[in-house]
Amino acid sequence: MKTAAIIVAAGQGIRVGGDIPKQFKMLGGRPLLSWSLDAFEAAGVSRRIVVANPAHAEVLEEARRRAEIVWGGATRTASVRAGLAALAPSPPDIVFIHDAARPGLSEKVLRALTGPIEAGWAGAAPAMPQADALKRVEPNGAVIEDVARADLARVQTPQAFRFSAIYDAYDRLADGMIFEDDLGVARAAGYAVTTIPGDPRLMKATFPEDFALLEAMLLPSSATFQAVGSGFDAHRFGEGDHVTLCGVRIAHDKGLIGHSDADAGWHALTDAILGALARGDIGDHFPPSDPKWRGADSALFLAHALALARESGAEIAHVDVTLICEAPKIAPHRAAMRARTAEILGLPLDRVSIKATTTERMGFTGRSEGLAAQATATILRKS
Ligand code: MG
Repeated sequence: MKTAAIIVAAGQGIRVGGDIPKQFKMLGGRPLLSWSLDAFEAAGVSRRIVVANPAHAEVLEEARRRAEIVWGGATRTASVRAGLAALAPSPPDIVFIHDAARPGLSEKVLRALTGPIEAGWAGAAPAMPQADALKRVEPNGAVIEDVARADLARVQTPQAFRFSAIYDAYDRLADGMIFEDDLGVARAAGYAVTTIPGDPRLMKATFPEDFALLEAMLLPSSATFQAVGSGFDAHRFGEGDHVTLCGVRIAHDKGLIGHSDADAGWHALTDAILGALARGDIGDHFPPSDPKWRGADSALFLAHALALARESGAEIAHVDVTLICEAPKIAPHRAAMRARTAEILGLPLDRVSIKATTTERMGFTGRSEGLAAQATATILRKS
């Protein structure tokens, strides 16, 4: 089915306060309108029309790149009519009509809305049950009537329609008739419309305080913070024919002395992750006095640090290891080290950095008495 979207963004939206209409106010660093465009793009709705007000031309730059702009009318009804007229020459099968002031649109809602249309309904919209008692109230606050709420629902947007039906319904609309939503227009023309379960995240930004609520619902990342941990380790060279660094066995004329496999790279990295989690150091978790870690594969230590991160809901964003030695040469093994580290941490390669340097023959690494490593881990933690 060919789908299209009409996003109504022509309102003045002054109740939210300030001089910018609400559909262009920022939420999580982006204008409200962008949020809806994201969802339509993600759902593969390739034809997108933003019905806007020429007075807002200067704030439409981003929308212009992501949608066709059509100038709206004095009322919502007139604006939707303008959007439909723009689609009519090459009509879609299904059109979603949406208010830009509802940024919490998801691909899931768009998919759910197409079901009833494919099943033969002319229109469908998400609807929320009415939880509060309803009263008809006079302007002075006096209650003049109780309203039974059992069969009442709050209808949201987007509303989906068989294009031919909603186009016809608008075509037959008498001049001057104004509807609060498009289901109303379709019903007035005799079309059968239905609802699907609504989504609280589709709440409309109407008042200034609504932005804080929308932020709380739509920006879970505001509850996370970034922590950077650092780690350092060194091991002494001794008898042997290989070293293990960042999980890779490298033939060498010396070995590294250590309780485990002496992988200084992964030890520094394990400490960096523990540091970002503020969970002590590698010695706390794997005491060198415990014989069970003799000759251990350091993948165990790294996997343990990862498990601690995951248990606390933290996510490793990036790791960076620097190996410090005169020999062996690291460059030929770097790709394998990155791949192995990425594999243990379950990270894409572009989030794993392995670097190498020397100390220009100065100090213990310069004299090849031993080898050192330092690491940082950047972690997104829940507060
Ligand atoms: Mg160590």
